[in-house]
Amino acid sequence: MIIESKGRIQDGIYAIGAAELPGYLLTGQYPVLFDAGMTFMGPLYLAELKNHLGDVNRLKFHLLTHSHFDHAGASPFLKRHIPNMQIGASPAAAETFRKPNAIELIRNLSRSLEEKYRDLIGKEDVTFQGLEIDLVLDEGMEIDLGSGLTCRVMATPGHTRDSLSFYIPAMKAVITGEAVGVFDKNFTIHPEFTSSYKDYMNSLNKLAALDIEILMMSHFFTLTGEDARGYIKKSIDKTEVFKERIEGYLTDSDGDRKSVVQKIFKEDFEDTRAILQDVRPYLINLEAKVRVIAEGR
Ligand SMILES: [Zn+2]
Repeated sequence: MIIESKGRIQDGIYAIGAAELPGYLLTGQYPVLFDAGMTFMGPLYLAELKNHLGDVNRLKFHLLTHSHFDHAGASPFLKRHIPNMQIGASPAAAETFRKPNAIELIRNLSRSLEEKYRDLIGKEDVTFQGLEIDLVLDEGMEIDLGSGLTCRVMATPGHTRDSLSFYIPAMKAVITGEAVGVFDKNFTIHPEFTSSYKDYMNSLNKLAALDIEILMMSHFFTLTGEDARGYIKKSIDKTEVFKERIEGYLTDSDGDRKSVVQKIFKEDFEDTRAILQDVRPYLINLEAKVRVIAEGR
């Protein structure tokens, strides 16, 4: 089944915030929240954590799939309100969150939305002020969630070099960030190899070996059962096809990357009107994908 990532996924698994930017909450013995989207959503996540956990201080872990502003934007706000929770991210992400340039970029990308959603924020200070990582997560680490549940850390670079996925074997559940691409409105998969095609494919093949019944995507959707089991293979096929398409367009245009971006933008974004992403981030990502293929990364 394909379900919207909002509210109860199954007992003990909830998507909080908005489906566009879901935080995935496991309410077991040691509750864990995966990702927390843009800064302006902070108060909303906090309110929903209260609803689900009673006392927000029960939240033991907050684990991040990667260092993009729409996945970790609200994390500093949550840390200010839940000081004892342990924030986990990859070594590269931990480094990124300390860099003044990266902090400034996240602030810049967040600002217009903070203005737009002033009423949601109220008097709270949601500014992104950098993030100290308590748990530096390496490939293969196991995090104890209590009651026999563990969460396995998988390094899945390719969307970014700091991308992680999290697998909970007892639930056959995986949280992937954008390592597996994103759906559009028509459930067409759009690959997201913005840092490296080779790494992205290796990561997909690694994820394909998992026994999966629940796949929690980075935006909008959660897949269960047959849809979850079949997804990674489809994503691999789509990724190969998209690479070949970029290569073909690059050949046709004598390597003119700008015209390739324009052509794909028209075909995939303008003609279909199905992409569930704003035009600016969509174009930034598309340029990166064309660059990755042109440079053979
Ligand atoms: Zn991302």
